[in-house]
Amino acid sequence: MRAGFHAGPAARAVAPVVVAAALAHIGPAATWLPELRRRRFPGLAGQGRPDHIALTFDDGPDPASTQHFLDVLDALGVRATFFVLGENVVRHPETALELARRGHELAVHGWSHDRPWLPSPARDARGLTRAVHAVGEVAGRVPRWYRPPYGILTSGRWAVARRAGTRPVLWTAWGKDWRQDATPASVRATVAADLRGGGTILLHDTDHVSAPGSWRAALGALPDIVRDCREAGWAVGPLGEHGVIGAEERGGGGSERGVSTSAGVGLGLGHERERERGERAGRGPGAVR
Ligand SMILES: [Zn+2]
Repeated sequence: MRAGFHAGPAARAVAPVVVAAALAHIGPAATWLPELRRRRFPGLAGQGRPDHIALTFDDGPDPASTQHFLDVLDALGVRATFFVLGENVVRHPETALELARRGHELAVHGWSHDRPWLPSPARDARGLTRAVHAVGEVAGRVPRWYRPPYGILTSGRWAVARRAGTRPVLWTAWGKDWRQDATPASVRATVAADLRGGGTILLHDTDHVSAPGSWRAALGALPDIVRDCREAGWAVGPLGEHGVIGAEERGGGGSERGVSTSAGVGLGLGHERERERGERAGRGPGAVR
């Protein structure tokens, strides 16, 4: 992807071949296939103890929407992990502090929501380091988790994240809550389709890089998602209580350290989302910018 690979329809058609051919050299490519990721790299996928579900939110904090999530989570008696952007933390420090005050776990989503089509390892390193610092200031502790925008984990980002003391974690189930046509029912059903015990749910507490107002679909789905989990016998909480495989020791790399490669290339999970955004912006499904 950084070398110009882009997931238009044609690219997505050949991607499994690319993955199969390059797996030995491009470890992060495996993260592109959710089922493969879950089985081969369970810690990276956010797989934890089987009686627990980790609830995570990306892209905030956002004073227009995050507060609503905090109120619903309080009513549900649930604590979650928020993967925040450094630029949003410094722009909205009160909302970021409120996350910590309410007992939620703050984690790092990067400085800004970069579209990593062009390689910039130095900028990546600077941004991630700044973000870790900004989040640490608010949380009062060094953040433990890192999730790259679009789930695109390059080897460079992996290395910087590990040096900063964070552990990369993606997700096993998402709600496609960023879409303009997302509804509480669609988000609940989409999450349920991929969710198993020990899974990690990805939702968004803001429309920062999503369709305007789309966060309302995630918010509306939240009580039912938590109820579904509890009825299945799963407790819901933050990643810090999830028993993420291989993360027993703080920052421990476990057996998945080998996912990082020297290829300098990562294939992520955000292809469909990118395509949708490209279409919305009139750039067509294969547009690269
Ligand atoms: Zn994001």
